[in-house]
Amino acid sequence: MSKLLEGKCALVLGVANRWSLAYAIADAFRREGACLILTYQGERQRDAVETVGQELAAAQVLPCDVASDGELAQLAEKLRESPGRVDAVVHSIAFANREDMSRPFVETSRAGFSLAQDISAYSLVAVARTVAPLMTEGGSITTLTYLGSTRVIPNYNVMGVAKASLEAVVRYLASDLGPKGIRVNGLSAGPVKTAAARAIPGFSSILDYVAQRAPLRRNTDPREVADAAVFLASPLSRGVTGNVLFVDSGFGIMGL
Ligand code: NAP
Repeated sequence: MSKLLEGKCALVLGVANRWSLAYAIADAFRREGACLILTYQGERQRDAVETVGQELAAAQVLPCDVASDGELAQLAEKLRESPGRVDAVVHSIAFANREDMSRPFVETSRAGFSLAQDISAYSLVAVARTVAPLMTEGGSITTLTYLGSTRVIPNYNVMGVAKASLEAVVRYLASDLGPKGIRVNGLSAGPVKTAAARAIPGFSSILDYVAQRAPLRRNTDPREVADAAVFLASPLSRGVTGNVLFVDSGFGIMGL
């Protein structure tokens, strides 16, 4: 059987370690024949992401703090030099201050609100602007989101509002970039134990709750999220843009 991403070049932002959702996605992209480019946030992360990059046979591992327009411009420059064209981008990045996720939402600071919006939502706009000129044969941009965008999840707080913003960003970008053949979608994953998830107080009890009540009666496997990301990056989803696809064992449909 032919591979779904053969001949495609994929930029994956947000691989911190082997537990990252972006790691599972990059691994599935590699399995499907994509050439991989990974990024790391700062020098502190460089060695770890380069090691992971070797495991995944990534062609390049480049610096990119999405809070920095300068680093995004340098990333664009590097990508223009090689490989010159990008077909798929995965934006798997979020950040909020730990205290803004643990105290009552009404106590959210102005600075904490702006920070969560900047890193977790605006960065998709900045990344899309960076890569769109390199998507010369059309492309696919996929971001990772969560049910906390539309439902109140305990201790998700400022990040829930950032995810609501992120999903609106998906729709506006899909409208802007659609005429260039660039599709933009969100992938709403069920809870998975990763470094980012561990910052959410009481995360283990969320996992237990979901496993007991989701229609499939289990938690989400990162490989399921990764296979859905392959679909969104591949021609199989060529008619899909501006959407949020749930990979959450069905938990998001439940009322009581
Ligand atoms: P993760 O492994 O901790 O990944 C988060 C990534 O964001 C890390 O690589 C982190 O880099 C990066 N990041 C944060 N600030 C950045 C910045 N300024 N510039 C560049 N990179 C930055 O956790 P994850 O759970 O896989 O999270 C990936 C995405 O999935 C997030 O959008 C998250 O909200 C979403 N998601 C997660 C779950 C879940 O339950 N795990 C469910 C639904 C959606 P550093 O490590 O260098 O800080």
